Amino acid sequence: MPDRDAYARLLDSVFERAWLTNNGPLVIDLERRLGERLGVAFCTSFCSGTAALLTALRALNLRGEVITTPFTFPATTHCIEWNGLRPVFCDVDPETYNLDPERLEACIGSETSAILPVHVFGNPCDVEAIEEIASRHGLPVLYDAAHAFGVSLDGRPIGTWGDLSILSFHATKVFHTAEGGAVVAAKDSVREKVSLLRNFGIVNENEVRGVGINGKLSELHAALGILVLDEVDREIERRGEHTARYLDRLKGVPGLHFQRIRPGTVRNFFNFTVEIDEEAFGLSRDEVHTALRADNIISRKYFHPLCSENECYAGLPSASRESLPNAHRLSSRILSLPLHGELSAEEVDTVAYALLSLREHATAVRRAARDTGA
Ligand SMILES: *Cc1c(COP(=O)(O)O)cnc(C)c1O
Repeated sequence: MPDRDAYARLLDSVFERAWLTNNGPLVIDLERRLGERLGVAFCTSFCSGTAALLTALRALNLRGEVITTPFTFPATTHCIEWNGLRPVFCDVDPETYNLDPERLEACIGSETSAILPVHVFGNPCDVEAIEEIASRHGLPVLYDAAHAFGVSLDGRPIGTWGDLSILSFHATKVFHTAEGGAVVAAKDSVREKVSLLRNFGIVNENEVRGVGINGKLSELHAALGILVLDEVDREIERRGEHTARYLDRLKGVPGLHFQRIRPGTVRNFFNFTVEIDEEAFGLSRDEVHTALRADNIISRKYFHPLCSENECYAGLPSASRESLPNAHRLSSRILSLPLHGELSAEEVDTVAYALLSLREHATAVRRAARDTGA
């Protein structure tokens, strides 16, 4: 949360202007600041990451199929469907958790019209390999960079890869506007189309061009974002310290694995995830999740179930378990631990030691959980 008095002062200015939405001065200011911070040619704000993704897909004028990953938040796949397109699931790399370029080409068919990879937990995809394949097949690449605010790869901002990227500014993300999102890109070419579609396609009083939507961010949300942006670097720094602390306590523990981050990445430490190998750890991911909760430690199963397992997609040919072995294995082993700037180092230790203690007493924990029906 930003400083409440500072927010009140910005709200005063909104009340004085009585200008609540439709490209108000705070939205314009926020977009300019974000464009600079993210190193992109343009940053068009939206009322959610989902609205940004819906609009970005629409702006690319696609037909048929879009290749994506099953190891993501449901919005990624839903936005494909809402555009009347069909998702095709491509398996992930077991170590980076991102769409595996080695398997990408086999998913491309006559109906393929775009590729929608996700920088999972802010870890950059193998962008070079993906884009080499895409350009060979003449396909646009749209990145779901919802997790990747402020990330860069070998000095290049993440939002400059591909044709477009979308960000989420939901309250749970590293940078937020309570609800919000953006479309960003390295080139200005689709900027006008994206901003037209964001406002119903309205060109002027006499003309509507394209099937637009209401995707606009309000002044109240932009005010929040302007203040949160001032603190985001400190937030990222704190998360980085906590991540180092978790790793120091947990690295080398049998049964625990960690996401392999691409070398050359400037990270945003969106979350901290452990992968639990039941055999070596002595407890399954679900058992750990339940036992931590009993200790009042809330962990999350990101991402479980896979998008391909949800009933609306389970019938697709590409959703079969056999074609997505890495994603299924990962989804059954993954667990996100608490991570945010307001945690103290002692709290991080408490979580890490709780995990170590579960491993040490795995047999007793399993027995106790079964006896109590947990
Ligand atoms: C959060 C998220 C979204 C959706 O963003 P909203 O702002 O919540 O609409 C899309 N994709 C991924 C991978 C996300 O984590």
